[in-house]
Amino acid sequence: MPPTAAPVPFQGLAAGCAALFGGADQLDRVTREMCDEFEVESAFLVSSGKAALAVVLQALHQLTGRRKVVIPAYTCYSVPSAVVKAGLEVVPCDVEPKTLDFNFDQLGQVVDGNTLCVLATHLFGAPADVDRIRSICRNRDTVLVEDAAQAMGGVTNGRALGTIGDVGFFSLGRGKNLSAGGGGIIVTRSREIGVAIKEEWDRLGQESFGGAVKNLAEMAATSVLINPGLYWLPAGLPFLGLGETRFYRDFPILKMGEARAATLKNWKGRLTSANAVRGEQARAYLEELRAYSPHVAAVSSPGAVYLRLPILVRDRAMKREILQRATALGLGMSQAYPGTIRQVPELEGALPPGDAPGSREVVDRLLTLPTHRFVTSAHRRAVCRLLEDVAVGGSATPVQQAVDRTVSSGRRAVSNPKCW
Ligand SMILES: *Cc1c(COP(=O)(O)O)cnc(C)c1O
Repeated sequence: MPPTAAPVPFQGLAAGCAALFGGADQLDRVTREMCDEFEVESAFLVSSGKAALAVVLQALHQLTGRRKVVIPAYTCYSVPSAVVKAGLEVVPCDVEPKTLDFNFDQLGQVVDGNTLCVLATHLFGAPADVDRIRSICRNRDTVLVEDAAQAMGGVTNGRALGTIGDVGFFSLGRGKNLSAGGGGIIVTRSREIGVAIKEEWDRLGQESFGGAVKNLAEMAATSVLINPGLYWLPAGLPFLGLGETRFYRDFPILKMGEARAATLKNWKGRLTSANAVRGEQARAYLEELRAYSPHVAAVSSPGAVYLRLPILVRDRAMKREILQRATALGLGMSQAYPGTIRQVPELEGALPPGDAPGSREVVDRLLTLPTHRFVTSAHRRAVCRLLEDVAVGGSATPVQQAVDRTVSSGRRAVSNPKCW
C-alpha cells in the first residue's frame, strides 16, 4: 500500500499528450481557474512546490530587503532547500507535538525586526493557527506565508487554506492532495506581493519539450504502479527513492509547462473527491483507533484534509517496531520526516543557535496512516490491530484474538477497549 496516492486520470494524461502539440493556452486557463476558485488577486504556476516557495521568498526579499525566514523545525526538507536556494537564512522554530503547529512561546522570541516572513504550515493537511501566527507577525511587520503544500482544498472557519496569509502556495507533487506529477502554485490576495511575484515569474524559463514528455511518461507509470497490487514493484526499487526525504542543494525553478498544466483538466472535481475520500478514511480511523488502539493518539483537528493521518505512539522504540512490522505487511504507514530541520546535515553551521525538543519528540513518535482511496476497511483494521499489538507488547493475547474475531465478523467489538 502506498503512503499517499493521487493518480492522474486517463483524461488528464490524454490532455497532457495533446498539449505537447500545440494548444498553448492551458497555463492561462488553469491560472484563471485557480484565481476564481480561491478568490485571489493573482496565481502563478511553476515547476514544483519548492520552486513556488523560492519565487515567493525572492519576491518578498525584493520588497523588504529582509533575510530571515522562520520555518517549523519539523517540516519537509524541501522547505529549507527553497530558503537556501533563494539565498536567505533559515530560522527554525520548534513545534508542539500535540498540534504539529509552532511552539508559540518560541515563535514570539525568534520573530524580530529582521524577519522577512514566517511560514505557517498546514502539515499533513491539518490547519495551522494562522490568526495566532499573524498576531505575532503584525508587531514586527513580518509577512505571513502559508505553506499549504499538503493542504490544497482544505478550509478552516470558511477560509481556504493557502489564502489566509499574505501569500500561500500549493504543491502538485506525486504525494500531494492533487498531483500533476510535480508542480507548484502560488496564490495571493495582495496586489503589491502579486506584482513583485509577477516580475520574478516573467523572468523564469519554461519546462523543455523533453522534460514534458518525460513527465507525462512518469505520470502514466505512476498512475498504474500506485495501485496496491503493484506498488511492491516501485517500492522495491531503491533508486526511485520513493518516500525519501531529501535536502535539495539545487533544483530547477521554471514556469509550469503547457502539457503539465493540461493534465490539470477537471482539477477541481479531482481534488474535491480525493479530499472527501481522505476525510472519510480519517474519520473511520479516528473512531476505530479510539475503540481498538487506545495506546496511540491521533493528531486530529477540525478542517483537516488529512493528506495522511498523523498519530503519536509511545516512544522511539515503539515507532521502530511498528514501522518494521508495517513495512513487512505492506501497510503504507510512514515515518514522515527522518529528523528535525536542526538535524539536516547540509544545514550544519548555517542555523542560529537554539533547540527544538518538541520537534525531536515528533521525530521519535510520529507515524502517518494512509488515507487515500485504495485504503479499505480491512486495511484500516489491520493497521489498528498492529498498533495495539505492538502497544501491549508482542503477539496477540487470547483476549485480543477473541476481539479480533469479533471485529472481523463486523459486530460491535468492545464496550471498554481499555480492558485489552
Ligand atoms: C511537498 C512539500 C513542499 C515542496 O513541494 P514540492 O512540490 O515537493 O517541491 C513544501 N512544503 C511541504 C510542507 C511539503 O510537504
